[in-house]
Amino acid sequence: MRFLLLSVLLMIASPLHAAERLNVVASFSILADFVRNVGGDRINLTTLVGADSDVHVYAPAPGDAKRIAEAKLVIVNGLGLEGWLPRLVQSAGSKAQVVTASVGIAPLKLSSAADPHAWQSVPNARVYVTDIANALAASAPDDAEFFRAQANAYLEKLETLDREVRDAVSKIPLERRKVISTHDAFGYFAAEYGVQFVAPLGVSTETEPSARDIAAIIGQIKAQKIPAVFLENISDDRLIRRIAAETGAKVGGTLISDGLTGEKGPAPTYIDMVRHNIKALTSALDH
Ligand SMILES: [Zn+2]
Repeated sequence: MRFLLLSVLLMIASPLHAAERLNVVASFSILADFVRNVGGDRINLTTLVGADSDVHVYAPAPGDAKRIAEAKLVIVNGLGLEGWLPRLVQSAGSKAQVVTASVGIAPLKLSSAADPHAWQSVPNARVYVTDIANALAASAPDDAEFFRAQANAYLEKLETLDREVRDAVSKIPLERRKVISTHDAFGYFAAEYGVQFVAPLGVSTETEPSARDIAAIIGQIKAQKIPAVFLENISDDRLIRRIAAETGAKVGGTLISDGLTGEKGPAPTYIDMVRHNIKALTSALDH
């Protein structure tokens, strides 16, 4: 009898619900934000590539294999973004289901491969969230209703966000809807919202541009009448001032493309990131 009572007490004391929470791994910060919004406190979420880190060139940390081995779901972007992931899943000996959240999105091309940056279009983000909600619901049917309700609430926020972007772009005069950017991450944004992103001619995105590069950019800005440039790899203020002085184009501002920032940064969530970018674009392109 005493033994029985003890067992009952132990059962009550053990955090039953926590033990049942679905272990989910998200490959990088933007995806993790979508997963968090759907899963809430019903899941244990681990993010492999966190804030302010580059998902393209990630080198898995020693603890990652363990996290993946313990996961029931591994949620990835796909479209070639996480080239390092298949080997990690294999070496972890994980039985986790790998869910590609971009399924259902028509891929654009980036040079000869698929462009992975589909999240830069808010309608695509809605596809991601729907795919994530379906995967969570299938893995934890008891919580399916919760996940769908969470997803619907978040999808509504994304719809509002999409309208904000369209409103902001519509206020920019048509002929001013183009920027030079060293980012190659805005193809989906450009296609969705009609802002042209022009790559700077002959400039490497890896290194500081030379004086000759700057002259080429100045020529390009003038020839194509480009009102604003986002050249984040130029750290030399004099070069930036020279471009501005010789072309009248606005130079500066930061566009955030491939990952969120920490809590104190301008983009701790996906919605913050899109708002940050649209503000940077409109303040550079409005007159
Ligand atoms: Zn990228």
